[in-house]
Amino acid sequence: MDRRSLIKNAGIAGVLAAGIAPAVHAQGAAIRWRLASSFPKSLDTIFGGAETFAKKVSDMSGGKFTISTHAAGELMPAFGVVDGVQNGTVECCHTAPYYFFGKDETFALGCAIPFGLNSRQMTAWMYQGNGMTLMREFYAKYNIVNFPAGNTGCQMGGWYRKEIKSVKDMKGLKMRIGGFGGKVLERMGSVPQNIPGGEIYQALEKGTIDAAEWVGPYDDQKLGFNKVAPFYHYPGWWEGGPQLDVFVNNKAYDALSADNKAIVEAAAAYAHVEMQAKYDAKNPTALKQLVGNKTKVVPFPKDVLDLAFKESMALYSEISARNPAWKKVYEDYATFRRDQNLWFRFTEARFDNFMQAQKL
Ligand code: CA
Repeated sequence: MDRRSLIKNAGIAGVLAAGIAPAVHAQGAAIRWRLASSFPKSLDTIFGGAETFAKKVSDMSGGKFTISTHAAGELMPAFGVVDGVQNGTVECCHTAPYYFFGKDETFALGCAIPFGLNSRQMTAWMYQGNGMTLMREFYAKYNIVNFPAGNTGCQMGGWYRKEIKSVKDMKGLKMRIGGFGGKVLERMGSVPQNIPGGEIYQALEKGTIDAAEWVGPYDDQKLGFNKVAPFYHYPGWWEGGPQLDVFVNNKAYDALSADNKAIVEAAAAYAHVEMQAKYDAKNPTALKQLVGNKTKVVPFPKDVLDLAFKESMALYSEISARNPAWKKVYEDYATFRRDQNLWFRFTEARFDNFMQAQKL
């Protein structure tokens, strides 16, 4: 044994003698978590967010901290995951928080509200505005510590068996719509349905519903909606930038070492960036394929957007008057939204508009 090894070994012996070894051992002990997703496995984009999160946690911990990912329905229903985390049935879930607006409308502010923040703006609010602090405070009531873990970007407005030509066509329309948009549709005379992703196709095919929205070209094509409804309206004004989150049970989170807490945070942030990149990269090709297969891509008429906007703002005032948790978060969100739109109109909006009109 050379001198350097001797010193090294003596060093380790010293550490062991000082009684630090058990702590080192405890920190190195295997941690196994289960994650319940609200999404079907077939969607590599949105279910993939949970898989990326789990893989990064495992990679960064050298395989000592592993998370098994379970599709909607495997451990619990798609919309049962918040209860699952709250009760500690699972350590974490990956979901779209607005699914749970029935518990409290404030959930929607951590995901998307009609005419809310776009993807860039939402990330800015969460990471650099007051979004994270305010949402953490709210989610604490449900034993949840939240981490942004994905965004789809602005979505499409969904699939319609008949074209929407004016606001009149919204009356009586039975439509599957994710989360909070349904509250506004209701005020416009439509009949919103909250159906999990894996069950939409059948309902649309059977005509149980007249229309359905999911995400955008890549996912929608995978789920086959173009086969059962020819009109594809845009934009998804109820989802300008919906954020997905990993929700972690607070006790499970508190039991982690500082290293593992940092790993969870970094893994979620990685999944957050990756999902948006995936959607942006995959949607154009899928849109071209859909159009090639006779899908009619049609903008919503202006009167539909105008009424939807008016009803959305009226709804937010009403909720603010009766729900203090919402009011507190929404006031900050609304101020942030106003300033973001002031800034983006000079930059992204102007630049994007010009670029999209060019022949490239
Ligand atoms: Ca959607």
